[in-house]
Amino acid sequence: MEVFAEKFADLKILRFAVPGFEALDLKKKMYIYHLSQAALCGRDILWDQNNRFNLRIRAVLETIWKTFKGNRESDQFKSFEVYLKRVWFSNGIHHHYSTEKIPAGFPETYFNELVAQSDWYGFKVKSGQSFEAFIIEIEEVIFNPEKESKRVNLDPKDDLVASSANNYYQNVTQREAEVFYAELKAPAGAEPVSFGLNSTLVKEDGRLIEQVWKLDGKYGKAIEQIVSWLEKAANYAENDLQKKYIGHLIEYYTTGDLALFDQYSIDWVKELEGDVDFVNGFIEVYGDPLGIKGSWESIVNYKDKEATKRATILSENAQWFEDHSPVAPEFKKATVKGVSAKVINVAILAGDCYPATPIGINLPNAEWIREKHGSKSVTIENITQAYFLDSMNNGMLEEFAGSVEEIQRAKQFGYLAGNLHTDLHECLGHGSGKVLEGVSTENLKNYYSTIEETRADLFALYYMLDDQMMKLGLLPSVEAAKAEYDTYLRNGLMTQLTRIEPGKDIEESHMRNRQLIARWVYEAGKAQNVVEFVCSEEKTYVRINDYQVLRELFGQLLKEIQRIKSEGDFDAAKQLVENFAVKVDRQLHEEILTRFKKLDLAPYSGFLNPVYELKTYSCGTPVDVLISYDEEYSDQMLRYGSEYGFLIN
Ligand code: ZN
Repeated sequence: MEVFAEKFADLKILRFAVPGFEALDLKKKMYIYHLSQAALCGRDILWDQNNRFNLRIRAVLETIWKTFKGNRESDQFKSFEVYLKRVWFSNGIHHHYSTEKIPAGFPETYFNELVAQSDWYGFKVKSGQSFEAFIIEIEEVIFNPEKESKRVNLDPKDDLVASSANNYYQNVTQREAEVFYAELKAPAGAEPVSFGLNSTLVKEDGRLIEQVWKLDGKYGKAIEQIVSWLEKAANYAENDLQKKYIGHLIEYYTTGDLALFDQYSIDWVKELEGDVDFVNGFIEVYGDPLGIKGSWESIVNYKDKEATKRATILSENAQWFEDHSPVAPEFKKATVKGVSAKVINVAILAGDCYPATPIGINLPNAEWIREKHGSKSVTIENITQAYFLDSMNNGMLEEFAGSVEEIQRAKQFGYLAGNLHTDLHECLGHGSGKVLEGVSTENLKNYYSTIEETRADLFALYYMLDDQMMKLGLLPSVEAAKAEYDTYLRNGLMTQLTRIEPGKDIEESHMRNRQLIARWVYEAGKAQNVVEFVCSEEKTYVRINDYQVLRELFGQLLKEIQRIKSEGDFDAAKQLVENFAVKVDRQLHEEILTRFKKLDLAPYSGFLNPVYELKTYSCGTPVDVLISYDEEYSDQMLRYGSEYGFLIN
C-alpha cells in the first residue's frame, strides 16, 4: 500500500494501513464492519453543522463534476476541481483549520458557464424555490466574501455567535445563548449533563428553543441509519459492558436525553477488556465559539497487541527505571507505578475525524466524569505510522540530515525509536520523581509545562541508550537509539523552526522543551565537541560526535530539571527556559526556512479510508470482511455522498 495518494492546494491526502485486520477473527471483523457503517452514516450531520449551505453546495458541485459537458481539460475546470476537492476535505466551504471561507479560485462567470453546461435532470431544490433562485443563492454564498465568511469567529470584539457561519445557532445573539445556557446550568449541581451539546438553538416567534438532534428530531434521517447499524453491531460485541453502552448510546440517539449520554460515557470509560472500541456521537466543541455544541464524529479502532506489549513491559519495570535514574535519591519515588497505555489502530475515520484526523484520543470531555470515573487516552499507531512513512519520503530527511548513515538509520529505526521515546515519556517520564512537601506546579508558574515536558523527554532520552532497552527486547540495537538522538537534536536545533514565522520566538511548550534540551547539551558539550554544527555547501547540519557522552549530558540535565521541579525553584526554571528555549538563532532560522520552502510541502494532511466489503454465503451468513486500499480520493468522496447522503433534501 502506498501512503501518499495525492496533493492539491495546501493539502495532502494519505492512506493508512490497518495492520492485522485480516488476522482478526470473524466476529471482531463483523463488529468493526458494522461499527464502520454506523460511522459513515453520520457524515451529512457534520456538513450541515459546519454551515447551513454546505449540503446544497456539495450537491451542486458534485452534479457539475459528474455531468459538465464543456472542456474538462481547461485550466478553469482544473481550478473548479481543486475547489471541489478542498470543499470535500473541509466537510464544507470553510477551511478545516483556519475556518475561513475557501476562495473558489475561478471567476463567477465561469461558475455560470459550469451550471449552464451541466445536466440538472432530477436535481431537487428546496420546495417552493425555483432552480434559478436556488443557484443565485448558492452563488452568492460561494463568491461574496462578506457572506458566511468565517465558520468559527473568536474575535472578542464581535458577537461570536452572530458572526460565526456555523449552523449551531439560528437568529440568536451571543448574549441570548449565554444566558440561556447559564440558566440551565445553574441548578444542575455537581454532575451536570453537557447542556446544549446535541441541539441547534433557534429563536422562533421571539422564543429560544432547542432543536434536538435525535431520531425523531433534527438530523433524524441520518441518526436512524446510525442507530440501525449500531443495533446490528451490538450482536457482535465482545462483552456485556460493550453491549450495555451501545444500548445506552442508541437510547440517547433515540431520545436526545443527555443523561443517557453520560451513562454511556461512564460505561465506555470502564470497558477495558475488549479489543475493539469506538467513538460515535456529538463530541468535540471546537466548532462552536461558545464551546457548547458538539460536532459529530466517529472512529472505530482495535488494540495493537504488539505495541501494547511494549508499553506494558515499560510499566511493569517502572521501579527499575526509577531506581536507576540519575536523579538525586531524595527526589526519587520509593514506589512508582507506570501508566499502562493502550496502543490502537483505527479501522475507519468519520465525521469530524475525516479526512483530517487527530493522532490520539482523550475522552470523555465531561470534567466530572473524568474526575470520578477516569478517561481513556490512546495514541493511534497506524496514523502516526502513516505520517512517519510519509515524512521519510517528502525530502525533509535528505535535506536536513547530515550524512548518508544518518538517513539510513532514520529510515531503518526512526519509527520504532520514536515510538519508544513516546512510550518512555508517557508511561514512565511524567510519573517519575517526587516533589518536596508544600511544592506544587504553581511554584514554577508559566514555566511549569515547559519544565515538565523537558523532564519527561529527558527521562526518555537518557534511557534510550541504556543496555536495559535491549535486555527487555525493546530495541534491536544501539543504532536505533542513535537514530533517536539524531532526530531529536536535528529537530530541536533546526527543523522544528520551520513552524516558526520569521522574527518570532518560540512559544509552544513542547517546542520550547525540545530546544531547551538540544541547546543545553550543545553548549554543555562544546569543550568536548560532543555535538557540532557543520557547514557544507552553505547548508548547516547537526553532527553528533559522541553518543555516550551525549547520553551523560541528558542525565545531568535530567538531574537538574528534577531538582527544579522537586524544589519548585522558579528562578532556575526561568533561567534555563529564557536562556535556551525561547530565542531563535535568526540567521540559522532564515536558512532553514529557505531550504524548507524549496521542498514545497503541503502544511495539512488528511486520510482516505480503506474499503470494507462484507462477503456472505448465498443464504446471507457472513464468510469474511475484506479490506482494500485502492479507492481514489474523488471516488471515495463521491461514493460517500451517494451512499451516505441521508440529509440531502
Ligand atoms: Zn508530555
